[in-house]
Amino acid sequence: MAKMTRSESHLDSGTRPDGAEVLRNDAVHLLDALQDGVIFLDPDWRIRYANRAARQISRIDEAHLNGPSHWELYPATVGTEQEQVYRRSMEERVSLTLELYYQPYDVWISLQTLPIPTGIAVYYRDITRLKKAESNRDETALQLEEVFEQTSDAIIMLDSKYDFTFLNRRAKEVLAPGGDLLGRNLWEAFPQATAEDSPFWVEYHRAMREQVPIHFEAFYPEPLNVWFSIEGRPTGNGMIVYFRDITQRKAAAEDLQRKTAMAEQQAAEIETVYRTAPIGLALFDTDDYHYLRLNDRQAEFFGMKPEDVVGRTLLEMAPIEGLQELFDGVRAGTPVVNYPLEGELVGRPGEHRYWTVNYSPVFAHDGSVQFIAAASLEITQQKRAEMALIQSEKLAAVGRLASSISHEINNPLEAVTNLLYLIAASDGLPQDVRQWVDLAEREVARVSQIATQTLRFHRQTVKPTKANAQQLIEPVLDLYLGRLMNSGITVQTKFVSKTPVLCLENEIRQVLNNLIANAIDAMKSGGRLMISAHDACHRSSAVPGVRITVADTGHGMPKETQARIFEAFFTTKDLNGTGLGLWISKDIVERHAGTLKVRSSSTPEMHGTIFTLFLPTSHVPEHGNQPAAVN
Ligand code: ADP
Ligand code: MG
Repeated sequence: MAKMTRSESHLDSGTRPDGAEVLRNDAVHLLDALQDGVIFLDPDWRIRYANRAARQISRIDEAHLNGPSHWELYPATVGTEQEQVYRRSMEERVSLTLELYYQPYDVWISLQTLPIPTGIAVYYRDITRLKKAESNRDETALQLEEVFEQTSDAIIMLDSKYDFTFLNRRAKEVLAPGGDLLGRNLWEAFPQATAEDSPFWVEYHRAMREQVPIHFEAFYPEPLNVWFSIEGRPTGNGMIVYFRDITQRKAAAEDLQRKTAMAEQQAAEIETVYRTAPIGLALFDTDDYHYLRLNDRQAEFFGMKPEDVVGRTLLEMAPIEGLQELFDGVRAGTPVVNYPLEGELVGRPGEHRYWTVNYSPVFAHDGSVQFIAAASLEITQQKRAEMALIQSEKLAAVGRLASSISHEINNPLEAVTNLLYLIAASDGLPQDVRQWVDLAEREVARVSQIATQTLRFHRQTVKPTKANAQQLIEPVLDLYLGRLMNSGITVQTKFVSKTPVLCLENEIRQVLNNLIANAIDAMKSGGRLMISAHDACHRSSAVPGVRITVADTGHGMPKETQARIFEAFFTTKDLNGTGLGLWISKDIVERHAGTLKVRSSSTPEMHGTIFTLFLPTSHVPEHGNQPAAVN
């Protein structure tokens, strides 16, 4: 502090009143309290005074004061702008400012000279930190600019009037390949974007108005044809906007979507085919062969829905001999191809059915058999048709046999008839013998009639002929007189129609024979058989024809039976029925362009059946390859 005092005395070379002394002391305190350095230089460039901050910044100690000149103390300043500024200020008595870098101390100084009566004062501050920060900032800005230029995003800045104030390299490429947008107005440059519903228009205005960041995706049409992901940030007096070209990503996404949709559609198609295929399809696991999956047709085999079958085992559903062994073979890796299988299934007991099956192992990655896939084609109908054909061949043979027998019988019968006539005509016959002969004659006549009828029956009509209802029905009824009587069945006939019908007579008789035989079968304990014929027209086509009804008061049929009576081999008569009668009849009627309908009731109060046969009068019937069967 003593030294300070000396410097103070230097400062004040003149005599001062005591009041001034106080003031001077306050000034010294004030100067020392300053952050900035203050020095006084005399005309000989000696430092006469340095405040505390100056002593620190310029590393001035006591020895430097009033001693060596400024240029001696800081030789690096000699010949610099600093020296010029100091000298000019001293000589011209002006205040000057300067920023300088003092290399020996690595400091940046900002100074101002002030002429004072004893020379000049230099008022300065260390701005090193500020300078560094500034240069850092410049560097950061440069780096940022570099990033802006290199990035693949387009970046633009807009002022509050939507004029372009900045475009990075990419922005120029993307948005303004033709010219410079800088300074131009966004909406003028891109008029399409001014549409009221344009997301650019809507979102930019929102960002500017509400000062909120925005983010949206938009397609910019011609001339760009680009999908952008756009982020905008308001900056207070404008907005900075980042554009990312996502056209490819979009295209890839759309492609993926399209492919996914296609795959889904294909899967749906396959699923539909799987579900509705007319082949039973199923997937089994390899332990106990549980149904994992099956289609509608496979489930139909059991009269069930697929979901009710899943989880059950193969043998539970199809207890068919040899099936287990077949599956065991597939589990061991051997497929089964077009294997004929027959048997009964649960759900439809008593029904013998036929299939052609294919079983394939489904392998896992490690080569083990993971599942068994099964495809089963039901061929029961074909099998039945096949058997029907065989059966009807046999029947045809029987028919031919019967025909030849009846032919053979006819001659001896005629002889017997003649002999009986002679016997009856001879004199002196006792009364009772005459009666027996009478009886014998009648029975022989009946046999004879049956034989000729059978013969007529079987004789294949080559050409269609004309016959009316009565001519068609009566010979058939005659055949059954015995059975009708024995069963206590009364017969009523009513032939209103006399119209001849063009038909294959023996075939139509075959149909009537089937209907009458069935009616008799249904009336084991008696009843009424009513047969009538009327002229009529076909219900839908209005073709004229004859309607024949065969009605009985027999036991009738429940709905389920009615639904199946025209199927080949459907019979409720066990060994007494073939199940072929109505099946053949239907075929015959169809070839005559006729119809055969049934109505039946099987309740205890009301039971009976009515078959209605309609035959067109003049349709030329087709010949069938089905030989007429005798039922
Ligand atoms: P089948 O007489 O050999 O059984 P069909 O084809 O002639 O074969 O008849 C099939 C089935 O139709 C019969 O088993 C019987 O159940 C039923 N049916 C046919 N006609 C009648 C009828 N008039 N009354 C009751 N059931 C009948
Ligand atoms: Mg029958």
